[in-house]
Amino acid sequence: MRAFLLCCALVLGAPCVASAQAQPTALVIHGGAGVIERKALSADAERVIRGTLDAALDAGHAVLAGGGRALDAVEASVRVLEESPHFNAGKGAVFNAEGRHELDASVMEGHTRRAGAVAAVSTVRSPVRLARRVMEQSPHVMLIGEGAERFADDHADLERVPNHWFDTPQRREQLERAQASEAQRQAGRDVPVAPDAYFGTVGAVALDSHGHIAAATSTGGMTNKRWGRVGDAPIIGAGTWADDRCGVSATGWGEFFIRNAVAHDICARVAYRGDSLAEAAGHVIGEVIPAQGGDGGVIALDAQGNVALPFNTPGMYRGWIGADGRRGVAIFADE
Ligand code: ASP
Repeated sequence: MRAFLLCCALVLGAPCVASAQAQPTALVIHGGAGVIERKALSADAERVIRGTLDAALDAGHAVLAGGGRALDAVEASVRVLEESPHFNAGKGAVFNAEGRHELDASVMEGHTRRAGAVAAVSTVRSPVRLARRVMEQSPHVMLIGEGAERFADDHADLERVPNHWFDTPQRREQLERAQASEAQRQAGRDVPVAPDAYFGTVGAVALDSHGHIAAATSTGGMTNKRWGRVGDAPIIGAGTWADDRCGVSATGWGEFFIRNAVAHDICARVAYRGDSLAEAAGHVIGEVIPAQGGDGGVIALDAQGNVALPFNTPGMYRGWIGADGRRGVAIFADE
């Protein structure tokens, strides 16, 4: 609630009038974009996934409804999704080529332009928490690999787990499929990249009752990744961005999102061109990325509480609570 005190007494001798005007809050979340099709998703899995998206909305909304900060709301939502084995972040993260997990995450607070990110961490149960800690308790924006783990060592309250804690049988099968098709490609056969090589990254963007925006993204990256590959999720401006008017969290083929500074480009279009949020996000996801052969989606919101959730894949796990209080979760493109 933003209160406007119209104090006229000193000027006009009139009594002071206090009027309270509701500042809208809004929350959007995603659990990744990709080849998510009805025929490939069991009714049970669909029910659990929709329930988890709802729980992530509840967690973030509880913060916002209590007058809390957008930063706390996005962390709360993302942590619910990191804990779920159904998404490619935290528990359930994809495997790299060595059969291990390297996790990336970032967070940004719009009105202060503070940001924190980690890449290729392997034992921190909640990478988004570590990213926030980098933002709040280090002089840096981004820490990677062993250094990020050493930084985590200094923060005893950040829970650590053995790397295999992130394992799930589904992700192991996904790795085996990806490695089998890669072996075929190396043998000269024309086998496309497995359509499920990625998706399931999670993210959240929130507008709080103080008018502040924050965004966060967390991922295991791409299945079968090698050589310390890092995608867009921890790159500020590519997978995550927040300023005082606009916030974005992305999911998709990270290399394309990095090359197009997708999250920043969307907000820059709003700021510099005066595009609406829907136009800006729709153009980048509907035109710029597919024109180059990439795919994926974003969740975005602006300071007025408008939300946009465009994607160019068959599905994107997503949820929203708009400024008008209307909420929903959806998976497929036709919802
Ligand atoms: N964008 C992530 C990456 O490239 C993957 C995803 O969104 O699922 O690491």
